[in-house]
Amino acid sequence: MSHMIYPTTNFAATETMNIARGDGIYVYDNHGKQYLEGMSGLWCASLGYNNAELIEAATRQMETLSFAHMFSGKTHDVGMQLADTLTAMVPVDDARVFFGSSGSDANDTQIKLLRYYFAAIGKPEKRKIIARERSYHGVTVAAACLTGLPINQANFDLPIDALGILRTDAPHYLRGKQDGESESQFVDRITANLEALILSEGPETIAAFIAEPITGASGVIVPPADYYEKVQAILNKYDILFWADEVITGFGRTGNDFGSTTMGIKPDMMSFAKQLSSAYVPISASVIRGDMYAAMIDPCSKLGVFGHGYTYSAHPLACAVALKTLEIYERDNVFAKAAATGTYLQTRLREFNDHPLVGEVRGTGMIAAIELVANKETGEAFKDGKVGYFAANACQEHGLISRPVAGSSLALCPPLITTATQIDEIIEKMGKALDDTLAFVQQ
Ligand code: PLP
Repeated sequence: MSHMIYPTTNFAATETMNIARGDGIYVYDNHGKQYLEGMSGLWCASLGYNNAELIEAATRQMETLSFAHMFSGKTHDVGMQLADTLTAMVPVDDARVFFGSSGSDANDTQIKLLRYYFAAIGKPEKRKIIARERSYHGVTVAAACLTGLPINQANFDLPIDALGILRTDAPHYLRGKQDGESESQFVDRITANLEALILSEGPETIAAFIAEPITGASGVIVPPADYYEKVQAILNKYDILFWADEVITGFGRTGNDFGSTTMGIKPDMMSFAKQLSSAYVPISASVIRGDMYAAMIDPCSKLGVFGHGYTYSAHPLACAVALKTLEIYERDNVFAKAAATGTYLQTRLREFNDHPLVGEVRGTGMIAAIELVANKETGEAFKDGKVGYFAANACQEHGLISRPVAGSSLALCPPLITTATQIDEIIEKMGKALDDTLAFVQQ
């Protein structure tokens, strides 16, 4: 053990792998063993490792201008170019963007933009935010209040009531359905719950609804087909903004440019990080509608300065690498190719539906989860995460990196550049790991 305090730890954890280098979609540990990176790191290394163009863009930027900030009226070309390129891509009207360094800080920024915007238009009471159960929005103090996973709030005195975070159902049919309920009845019930929550709190007090179009960290939940249509209609009815947290689903992950496109959402705000730079450097983006931005300009003198900004907002190195990443996505048609590979991945993964341990295979495009269950017939879940951890370790033994999520689901989120042959390799290794896990469960 080194002197490192590891993230998301019980402090007693021991290291299981020391990653020494990466190349393409593979990483190698310090003993030289090769692993197929089936998680793109943490849902982020979309263009894989050792990409010569990204390395060159970073090197060139470091040589030209290693740092500049955006305070006191200062700017730089690479930051402005990235802002213009990104805002031209997103499905937000006349989009404007604020840069940070992580998905968590992007969501914190959005909370402040919401507060400032509604104060600017004379509606400061419109400040509550509806978030869902089983959601993940990060771990900074404010973002952890949005997150709907107990592990990120327990022991920290969170959520902070003053932030006004309200909680509504997760669109997770398998784990949320009541006895005998069909999928459409499930959607009707949870969207009726959403509307009831809005009415009981008072629509005039609610600023926004935040959702990952497809949840990642809490088990890759793909909502039923008509869920978002119903949610968006309710939000429109009560003048509540749709805030899409696309930190995982952005940039070709779900079979389209954005998760919002895949799920038919028209967002007012979007949060990005991870694949914005293919994880070569930390950068995040908080995107809002142009008219929200415009409304904040005028009364600035009345409200005072928007007192929020990071030393590393629009860091030139991060902007240069993100700009090159977006250029590669566009030039190499990365999203369309990933959509085709994703269709193949989803088809092949569903071959595991017959496996005695598999309760459900979920996913779309290049993101998926295999839920392992204690009883295949009833869908009964395992009581703790032990089986999920065993299965992920078994994958690792066979040279595949997966990730246990939501207890006993195994997540997959391979780099967008993964080929069909490499998908076959994932399936082969996963099959061996599932068989090892079955033997473990049957012991
Ligand atoms: N939002 C979503 C949907 C995420 O999946 C994550 C991280 O996985 C975050 C926010 C937080 O991002 P970060 O870990 O960069 O702070």
